[in-house]
Amino acid sequence: MHRYPKHLIQLIEKLKKFPGVGQKSAQRYAFHLIEWPEKELAQFAALLSEIKSKLKTCDRCGCLERDNECPYCDDVGRQPQILCVVSHFKDVFAIEETHEYQGLYHVLGGLLSPLEGIGPEQLAIEQLKTRIQKLGVTELIIAIDSTLEGDATALHVKKELEPFDITISRLAFGLPMGSALDYVDGGTLARAFAGRRGF
Ligand SMILES: [Zn+2]
Repeated sequence: MHRYPKHLIQLIEKLKKFPGVGQKSAQRYAFHLIEWPEKELAQFAALLSEIKSKLKTCDRCGCLERDNECPYCDDVGRQPQILCVVSHFKDVFAIEETHEYQGLYHVLGGLLSPLEGIGPEQLAIEQLKTRIQKLGVTELIIAIDSTLEGDATALHVKKELEPFDITISRLAFGLPMGSALDYVDGGTLARAFAGRRGF
């Protein structure tokens, strides 16, 4: 890379931050990008600079809002007595694509990870308890990856909810161990939903 101009190297370094993108791919993307018309690059740059501030999460469930409304909490057609607990709002999109689920969601905002210093207080567990009472939840579905952290988090949630009279199931059934929810294909996820088991 010693013959590369400084700005090109900086661009390549940024592109290497994407999952699965190594040096070679990053170089290819960088050379591709600099071929874009000036105007399109400016639009891309503007989009990147404001994307974080433009995205808002629902203060009830933690899902991404659309036009200042929560597509789930504000949808009267959904069943508020059923909650699906996920670790990240991105997981909701994968679940919605299965068309198997009509309840509401609850985003924890991460997984328990002592190594990364993420403890129960960093996750939206107290909010979950409040919502269970407020919504009169009767069924809770835990849709969290079957990884070390995922299993620990699911167990912790279950333990915290022991005082509540609700049915708890977990989607791990049918999902390959260690699979990330957003990598699982729609059919597998739909089957996992249909075949959820008590947890
Ligand atoms: Zn919401």
